[in-house]
Amino acid sequence: MNELRQDFPAYDTADGAFHFLDNAATSQICRPALEALVEFETNDRANVKRGVYARAERATNAFASARKAAAFFINAPSPDEVIFTSGATLGLNTAAHILQHHLESGEVILVSELEHHSNLVPWQLAAERRGAKVRAIPVTDDGRLDLDKLDDLADRVKIVAVTHTSNVTGAVTDVARLRSFCDATGALLVLDGAQRAPHGPLDVQALGCDMYAFSGHKAFGPTGIGVLWGRYDLLDSSPPFLGGGEMIRRVSIERSTFAPPPHRYEAGTPPIGGAIALAAALEWSMSQDWAALGAQERDLTEKMLNGLSDMCGCRLYGPTGTQQRVGVVSFELEDVHAHDVCQLMDSDHGVMLRGGHHCAQPLMDRFDTVATVRASLAPYSDQADVDALLNGLEAVRRKLA
Ligand code: PMP
Repeated sequence: MNELRQDFPAYDTADGAFHFLDNAATSQICRPALEALVEFETNDRANVKRGVYARAERATNAFASARKAAAFFINAPSPDEVIFTSGATLGLNTAAHILQHHLESGEVILVSELEHHSNLVPWQLAAERRGAKVRAIPVTDDGRLDLDKLDDLADRVKIVAVTHTSNVTGAVTDVARLRSFCDATGALLVLDGAQRAPHGPLDVQALGCDMYAFSGHKAFGPTGIGVLWGRYDLLDSSPPFLGGGEMIRRVSIERSTFAPPPHRYEAGTPPIGGAIALAAALEWSMSQDWAALGAQERDLTEKMLNGLSDMCGCRLYGPTGTQQRVGVVSFELEDVHAHDVCQLMDSDHGVMLRGGHHCAQPLMDRFDTVATVRASLAPYSDQADVDALLNGLEAVRRKLA
């Protein structure tokens, strides 16, 4: 058994048939995050920034410390550049809202065919508001961004908004190449880190991006919390996205002036417990040996890829090797719908998978399909999970194909 499971309460009561391979959708919460949540909700629960009593001060201090921990996890120059959101989706919508103020009519937002809808629809909406255009970096047959095509797409590009890691193919984006492209074109670089954040600490400064978003629930934290990081000058260049309490400086009936970032973008009571628990999850992540966890993930990914490519009637999508990718593997069984595969894998084999378009319909179009099955690993995954996946699929294939 994978010893790391001791850090995950979901495994305390799980029996041997619990094979959770839907980590790209939501991973399990780690024990420090759950304990931090219980501790806050039990002993410190009060609203932040308002109260003058000790409990409220404890809550306010814990929330401020959570922001520092999130900044540390991504190596942000300042915690004031960290906005707590409800997840990557709100983060990317906020990024699109902010950066639209830098867009002129006719300019281009460059996304990719690989994007999750969360990093596509907000840019379409921003483009519509500004009279700008959305263009896409194509995807190679093995499910990576085709960066050789970048030069053909340079005309009037103002924003490049792409995924750091694909939720369908597991491909990790070559950010350095995108950074050079942005340097040459003067474009701003936004990364959707929803699938990268679960793979250890990040360095937004080394990546050279201008904004970065991720969700807590995929990175061993609670649901309902996420992070948007942005360069302070960019955050300070835009009016607020949402209005309400705590984001203002002064309000009269006619007009309002606004607080500086990050508070300008955190209208209303923030997800206090979520932020505190996320910080505990990020601290847990920072305490792990990611070189060893990466090697373990590559080993299990290779076993999945080998097993699936040996399976009769199984079509794999995405990179066939284990370099520059994470343990997110998409495939289809010939003549069997992905939903049927997932249902039987759960009911008959205790394997939890995801089937569908994965909120990436343009990529499904690119692959000329409508749905794939996806198995996705986490640091607590082990050989038994992969065996259950491959044996179960073989049985499902024989039953249904
Ligand atoms: N981007 C990617 C690559 C994702 O995988 C997801 C979640 N599936 C999102 C964005 C959106 O994250 P959330 O639903 O947590 O806001």
